Amino acid sequence: MELNVQDIAAWIEKSNEKMQANKEYLTTLDQEIGDGDHGINMVRGFQEAASKITKQDYTKPADVLKDTAIMLMSKVGGASGPLFGTAFLKLSMTVKGNDTIDFGTFANGLEESVNGIKQRGKATEGEKTLVDVWSKMADYFRREKDFDQDKIAEEAKNAMEQTIDMMATKGRAAYFKERSIGHVDPGSASSFYIFQALAEVIGR
Ligand code: ADP
Ligand code: MG
Ligand code: MG
Repeated sequence: MELNVQDIAAWIEKSNEKMQANKEYLTTLDQEIGDGDHGINMVRGFQEAASKITKQDYTKPADVLKDTAIMLMSKVGGASGPLFGTAFLKLSMTVKGNDTIDFGTFANGLEESVNGIKQRGKATEGEKTLVDVWSKMADYFRREKDFDQDKIAEEAKNAMEQTIDMMATKGRAAYFKERSIGHVDPGSASSFYIFQALAEVIGR
């Protein structure tokens, strides 16, 4: 299967729906090991991205991804905006010019996303950040051959849950030191919703 421009637009719209539906939960997570604004940040960013996308007619997936990146980078106040923005920008750059995105190209795009997030946040795996979900997903896509709705959602959920036992060493949660252990990383939870949204688009 390949993802076309409608699929990519649906991915962003579904991600927005999930951020809206889980705003309180994301806020609660960020109250525990942060400043309590992650739900607000993600809702604002994805709302802006989704309304930009629905207002316009796109012919290429890369253009939807690029506008999403721009909205996330410019409308989210927190650390997470530029990081998620970078992820979507790198995906956009990888698929530039394509009418559809095949599995291998998506895998390459995710690899670029992870590299971009790591560079931007100066973070690596195991630091209890959204890197932990994106990196696990890039590894997963590298191993597999085709889009699988159930496996994508499951892999993202596992990656998110693996952040519980980690101690944060980047971002605001790092100030909590050992006390950051035992909580889900907020940015990993919102990343899970993004991949859950992707899985639903694949299954529709
Ligand atoms: P802020 O911390 O500025 O309030 P958010 O609450 O929106 O921003 O986002 C916090 C999330 O951002 C964290 O849960 C973590 O996943 C991610 N994050 C924070 N700093 C970094 C970093 N340096 N590298 C990667 N991800 C980070
Ligand atoms: Mg915060
Ligand atoms: Mg903040």
